[in-house]
Amino acid sequence: MNPGQERLIILARPTPEWMEARMIRVLVIIVFLFFDAPSKAEVNPSRPRLIIILSIDQMRADHLVRYAPLYEHGFARLLREGVHFKTADINYAGSSTGPGHATLGTGTYPWKNGIVSNNYRERASGKRVYCVADSMAEPIEGDGGKMSPRNLLVTGLGDWLKTASPGSRVISISYKDRAAILMGGKHPDAAYWYDRRSGRMSSSSYYLAALPAWMQAFNASGWISKNLPPVWTKLLSDSIYTPFGPDDMPGEAPWGGSRSFPHGIEPGREIGLLFSTPWGNDFLFDVARAAIRGEQLGKRGTVDLLWLSLSTTDNIGSTFGPDSHEMMDNLLRIDVALGRFLSDLELSHGAGGFILALSGDHGVLPLPEHERMSGNQAARRFNNRNSVERAVKDVDSILRHDFGIGYRVIRVGRIDSSVFCIPGITGPMIEGRLRAALLAVDGVADVYFRTELTDPSVRDRPYLQKYRHSYHPERSPDYFIRDCEYCLISPDSIGTSHGTPYDYDTKVPLVFWGTGRAPLVVERTVHTVDLAATVAAFYNLPTPGNLDGIALKEIMN
Ligand SMILES: [Zn+2]
Repeated sequence: MNPGQERLIILARPTPEWMEARMIRVLVIIVFLFFDAPSKAEVNPSRPRLIIILSIDQMRADHLVRYAPLYEHGFARLLREGVHFKTADINYAGSSTGPGHATLGTGTYPWKNGIVSNNYRERASGKRVYCVADSMAEPIEGDGGKMSPRNLLVTGLGDWLKTASPGSRVISISYKDRAAILMGGKHPDAAYWYDRRSGRMSSSSYYLAALPAWMQAFNASGWISKNLPPVWTKLLSDSIYTPFGPDDMPGEAPWGGSRSFPHGIEPGREIGLLFSTPWGNDFLFDVARAAIRGEQLGKRGTVDLLWLSLSTTDNIGSTFGPDSHEMMDNLLRIDVALGRFLSDLELSHGAGGFILALSGDHGVLPLPEHERMSGNQAARRFNNRNSVERAVKDVDSILRHDFGIGYRVIRVGRIDSSVFCIPGITGPMIEGRLRAALLAVDGVADVYFRTELTDPSVRDRPYLQKYRHSYHPERSPDYFIRDCEYCLISPDSIGTSHGTPYDYDTKVPLVFWGTGRAPLVVERTVHTVDLAATVAAFYNLPTPGNLDGIALKEIMN
């Protein structure tokens, strides 16, 4: 019965019996609505109409604090006006870009969202898989690759928003395909990433049949030739940088012919080098501006969501280290670019017209050479992978000899489970031998086996829970090796990396700005998995019942 029909009946039969029956019906409806409220939740209409979530790839929590006296623009405003969680941890072991952005986007750890690392081996097929590869998807601009969120096993914040408000738009942008795709969730309006060959923003047929006109216009604008300078010089005077350490540091990789400023940008290679310079951030902020304008985000009477991940920090940090002048300069320039972005949005959307949350996907190990100069003698750069391989082979050889097995049973990260049907061979026996052999290798701090990762009754020990959060039975190895802290296990003599459960790899920024909450610095430890849950709760969005993240009370109260 539609409302019009009901009104006709009221006019035709206004008897006392009918009135009583109607009152009972109204009461039943009120009771039903009251108890059904959570599943019928509507987006909170009092909240700002645009949500912007900014992830800065490889930015560490201490980057926000260390240079705070020098920030005068965007970061300064976030710190001065926002709620700053000083101790935000990713809280799982596999600290890389795919898991980092999947966790931010979905409010779940890799054990549920399935993005255990950038590349993983599928147990069933034995195939090595790139986390956003999808053979069914076609690039729709240049050579953006066959990519989609098909390997992501859960929905994300963007999906919850669109379920509650189908008219809402969700757009995700990054230099990296995996960052844009995994933040965006399963069904955003689009995810866009940079094609390193053409210098244009790309997407895939999973999202779109063709790029929208605003993105085509951006791609045709000649941004790089207009904006990328031939030389990267410092933003501020040299004397500002020197108290933070030397420019030329052992362990830094030469770039543009030098380990120190100025860095020339090789003519003809601008497209490939853009995201190794701070101008890659300006490029992406301009893509975000074009998206906001082109899609009218936050201007259509619904709540819209824009994800933006900056990646230059990852490239610059891996080359020069997190304590370098190059990283410092990059952050100072992001401060300026973010400040301009906030001011532009205040002009277009009004103060209070949007919220912004800042976080990151992982941190990074300082250059071991720099750490040692600072007095940390635990820091080392070496390669123990051959020793690990040899230890595993030795255990395998003895086992095969003892039990007359004609095939390889144990490899690095793998144990062939078919051997468990051989009398005398048990999981604990193999694990015991393997653990002893691996712990004898220089640089191996601990080993976590499948059985320990899946059995909650196993007694906790350092980092076990973080490895559990990174473990998915169909996508993870049979055992993880934890390297020693401050050890860069690498065949390279330059640069640095991440991927461990240690603080330097897992502590990232977390700030909420524009929420109407009084400025606050929060010291307690929270997790990046809480970001999506917090934004969802702030907007009253219904969420799946199995989230790992929780709504942070400092934003909700
Ligand atoms: Zn990353």
